[in-house]
Amino acid sequence: MIQTIETLEKIIETGTADLSEIIELLESRDDEQQLLYSAAREITQNIHGNVIFLRGLIEFSNCCCNNCLYCGIRAGAPGIQRYRMSADEIVATALKIKASHCGTVVLQGGVDPDFSTAKLAEIIKQIKAETSLAVTLSVGTKTEEELLVLRQAGADRFLLRFETSDQAIFSKIHPFESFEQRVACIRNLRPCGLQAGSGFMIGVPGSDIKTIASDILFTKNLELDMIGCGPFIPSPGTPLAQESLLSDLSVYYKTLALIRIMNPYAHIPATTAFDSLCDGGRDEVMKCGANVFMPNFTPPHYKKEYNLYPGKPQVDTSIDIYEAVKERIEKMGRTVSSAIGDAIQPDAYGKNEYEHNNC
Ligand code: SAH
Repeated sequence: MIQTIETLEKIIETGTADLSEIIELLESRDDEQQLLYSAAREITQNIHGNVIFLRGLIEFSNCCCNNCLYCGIRAGAPGIQRYRMSADEIVATALKIKASHCGTVVLQGGVDPDFSTAKLAEIIKQIKAETSLAVTLSVGTKTEEELLVLRQAGADRFLLRFETSDQAIFSKIHPFESFEQRVACIRNLRPCGLQAGSGFMIGVPGSDIKTIASDILFTKNLELDMIGCGPFIPSPGTPLAQESLLSDLSVYYKTLALIRIMNPYAHIPATTAFDSLCDGGRDEVMKCGANVFMPNFTPPHYKKEYNLYPGKPQVDTSIDIYEAVKERIEKMGRTVSSAIGDAIQPDAYGKNEYEHNNC
């Protein structure tokens, strides 16, 4: 017990740890585990304050030419009603996001060749012309040239998870992709002027506690502005449908807490997959390190077809999304923020690339 508390204190002080120290904390229980959560909470509070930033999500296409073994919208997934939102629908939804007090729009989709870089660039330009929103993209791996075009068009941030740092597992679950290319894209983000986001799925099949510890270290070494991690959820109709969740659910939350402690400045969303773990899962994550919430603004008739995994929060069209999220967050004693919520370590770039003139 005393040993683990000392390890925790060391990680808090230095912001880093070795594999065995991370494993020690992932295996912590009872009081030690609670100390880990409260340390993560305190760091979040000290650096980010009491606010939760809102990033409005648009799932603009569920068409995908990739075949990731875990994903419910993979190319080979049977029985899916595929859709693509039109540019006008995307921009109209972004306007709704702005009107709903979010400072950022996140455009996420499958790897859909129909949304070429040029087409995405046009959509970003239109959103930037009509709103003061920050634009975040989550559209799969891009080359350096493509990233520059998207940045030029006005994209502010880019999310691309490395999913797992175990290269053998990565190759197995990503038949069409290379780990090197994905990591190269993540490393290219900041040099291209984009705020960099990445993360992993906690407990991908084939991984154990050591893999998760390595994933946490890998995340730290990427020096990210945003870190999005969530539990792997077995998705029906995929080759990994029969796999299971981790037997000890607390490992998911301990992972998040450690990520917060080791990356105090990063923006960390309470990702949707936590709500698939259990009711109110995202609330738990906001109690152990998360400072971002991503309400989903995808029009309901499309949203029900964007099933990466089961248990996504239900679509209730009668409820005002902003009011519901605000209530949820205020119930926890936090406040929502409609600010842009840019990266807060601009020194890392030499100069503050991210000053917005319109916020
Ligand atoms: N096409 C984009 C967006 C992918 S979907 C891209 O390639 O980056 C966003 C994230 O959902 C993925 O990065 C993955 O981590 C997560 N995801 C997909 N299927 C999942 C599952 N079954 N369980 C948990 N997370 C999943």
